[in-house]
Amino acid sequence: MFSNLKDTPIQRKLMSVMLLTSSFVLVLMCGAYLVFEYYSFKSNIKNDVSTLGIVIAANSSAALAFDSQQDATEILGALKANAHIVSACLYDESGRQFARYPSTISAQDVPGKPQKSGYRFESGYLIGYQPVLQNNERMGTLFIKCDLDAMNDQILRFLLVGCVLIVISLFAAYLVSQTLQRAISAPILALEQTANMISKDQNYAIRAVKTGKDEIGSLTDAFNHMLSRLEKQNLEIMESEEASSKLAAIVETSNDAIIGQTLDGVITSWNKSAERMFGYTADEMIGQPISKMAPAERADENKGILARLSKGERIENFETERVDKYNKLFYVSITVSIVRDSLGNTIGVSKIVRDITEKKQEEIRKNDFIAIVSHELKTPLTSIKAYLQLLLGIAKKEQASFSINALSKAEGQVKKMTSMVQDFLSLARLEGGNIQINKVPFELQLLMQEVVDEAMMLNTQHKLIYNNCGSIIVNGDRDKIGQVLINLLSNAVKYDPDGGEIIVSCDQTDGKVRISITDHGVGISEKDQASLFDRFYRVRNEKVKTVSGFGIGLYLVATIVGYHNSSIKVRSSEGAGSTFYFDLDVIGS
Ligand code: ADP
Repeated sequence: MFSNLKDTPIQRKLMSVMLLTSSFVLVLMCGAYLVFEYYSFKSNIKNDVSTLGIVIAANSSAALAFDSQQDATEILGALKANAHIVSACLYDESGRQFARYPSTISAQDVPGKPQKSGYRFESGYLIGYQPVLQNNERMGTLFIKCDLDAMNDQILRFLLVGCVLIVISLFAAYLVSQTLQRAISAPILALEQTANMISKDQNYAIRAVKTGKDEIGSLTDAFNHMLSRLEKQNLEIMESEEASSKLAAIVETSNDAIIGQTLDGVITSWNKSAERMFGYTADEMIGQPISKMAPAERADENKGILARLSKGERIENFETERVDKYNKLFYVSITVSIVRDSLGNTIGVSKIVRDITEKKQEEIRKNDFIAIVSHELKTPLTSIKAYLQLLLGIAKKEQASFSINALSKAEGQVKKMTSMVQDFLSLARLEGGNIQINKVPFELQLLMQEVVDEAMMLNTQHKLIYNNCGSIIVNGDRDKIGQVLINLLSNAVKYDPDGGEIIVSCDQTDGKVRISITDHGVGISEKDQASLFDRFYRVRNEKVKTVSGFGIGLYLVATIVGYHNSSIKVRSSEGAGSTFYFDLDVIGS
């Protein structure tokens, strides 16, 4: 019964509990009352019959004394007044039957001899033996037998009334419990209804109504709180799904190839542009290792990229070459970002690949053009320089001061132009990957002296100070280091228009020599310092707007110094001048 109870609806459960409890209490009470009634009836009937016995015994003593059976029978006949007395018998002193009631019964219907005095219940009857006394002398014994029909009738009646009462009470309890159970079941059912509505409509904005401050009230609060959290999470999921689908649309329609890959190089996403650019479809690539597309050296490049990213470096617009499915070479610029999971763990990388073939080809054409023009200019410049030197020699001999002055200036300009052409050629070679660094041991101090002397000859406006550091042998490309020094020195002159002091120094420490060139010119802002060594970068401000240039000098300086395992640095502040410096390894002195 109780196992079924757990599956029945709460309303019925509550009703059953209430009705079962009421029935149990009612039956218990009725039972207790019945037991009480039974015992009190027995005690009452015993009292009544014993009183009757005493009276009859007292009245019978004379009849026994006078041995009058007729009197005795008459006295016993008085028992008729009690319909429940079944039989009675008077025994004389010797225990013989003297008279019987009713007179019609035979001697066998009553005990043959009197037994122990007293009243007791036997075989569904109350029987009693009452001594008959006269002046405290025993004259005989009275036997009375009384049936218990009255008691049985009363118990039966009581049972009937009890049952009717129980039925009426249970009905009343049913009516009351129906109203009372609603107080408990209604809020629970309302809660259930809300939960059903939410699960059906997926509408987490619905709230259960709180009806009290009891446990169900707390349950409603907890349920509503849970709903609020669900609603928020649902909203977040919807937003993130929306954002993801927007992102997916952007990724798909992007002109750049967007490729996702795991840390092991397995491709996880491959958009339409990637298909267009590389010729492989997403189906062909997703789940495949990147090496399917990339030759061995690309796999190494991949490892290098991961190593740089893990060090926290940014990889943006990294330019390189790629080959498509049909072996066509093209140029790309790649930006790589780390992909993390929700816990912040690195799980892969995403690459944005831009096809820069056209731009690259344009650059190649431009570089070729610069290379050709520079190369073509080199020969005429060399012969102009030779003729100028010849003429200068003649003018000096003739001591023609005007000619000497004019020819010296012309020679200076030709040297400037030669240096410019040299820079262009270097740039073109660098871009074409044809730059050659021929490192040989050379005497640094001699090279610096040459460059300083040349600069002094060409420029009389500035005061050039050279802090000679003695004989130092370094290993490097003498011409290229010379180009570096010329570029730095000509910048120091160019960007100090007021003709201040320029200091060229070399300082030797710990197996290295530091070469520095300091001017007291316009200086460079911190912002400009960050891009100073980029190709074609030129500072744009009032002070330098009239100074001509192409923005390749410092780019070449940085590249050449880089080829010598060093880097060019700058210390500068606007209006106070600048110091450019770099270190070289000393291999002897
Ligand atoms: P260019 O001098 O042809 O413009 P560079 O690459 O040599 O190109 O120099 C880049 C920029 O750096 C210049 O435009 C200039 O503004 C700045 N710069 C270079 N050297 C100095 C210097 N010594 N003092 C101030 N500014 C300098």
